[in-house]
Amino acid sequence: MKSFRKELTFKTPHRRDYLNITPDVQKALLESGIKEGLCLVNAMHITASVYINDDESGLIADFDDWLENLAPHEPISQYRHNGAEDNADGHLKRQVMGREVVVAVSNGKLDFGPWEQIFYGEFDGRRSKRVLVKIIGE
Ligand code: ZN
Repeated sequence: MKSFRKELTFKTPHRRDYLNITPDVQKALLESGIKEGLCLVNAMHITASVYINDDESGLIADFDDWLENLAPHEPISQYRHNGAEDNADGHLKRQVMGREVVVAVSNGKLDFGPWEQIFYGEFDGRRSKRVLVKIIGE
């Protein structure tokens, strides 16, 4: 069995951003040379998510509105976590959107269902943060 590890780094321009990172993961899979196995992709920071859904701008705006309704950024004083920090809402949003995804690797490709794309969800951006890609297989 082979194993491959790569870190991706993202620095988004806004506090909240949603990036389709599927091409980055496909590039890592190509680099790995693995044809059959499993690909794990996880956010390495606790105010960011990796999730799978549709790359459709309306849906992305809907996710953002929904998350902001669930855990509004302002007023920051509403959260006990916020003292030296102002990112309590980012922790809560990350928990809802998840830490990681696992995608089957078949015939050298990410074995997606219809419209599935891998996203990096950033909830406390404007600084460099990492995503881990781990691929195991043959
Ligand atoms: Zn925090």
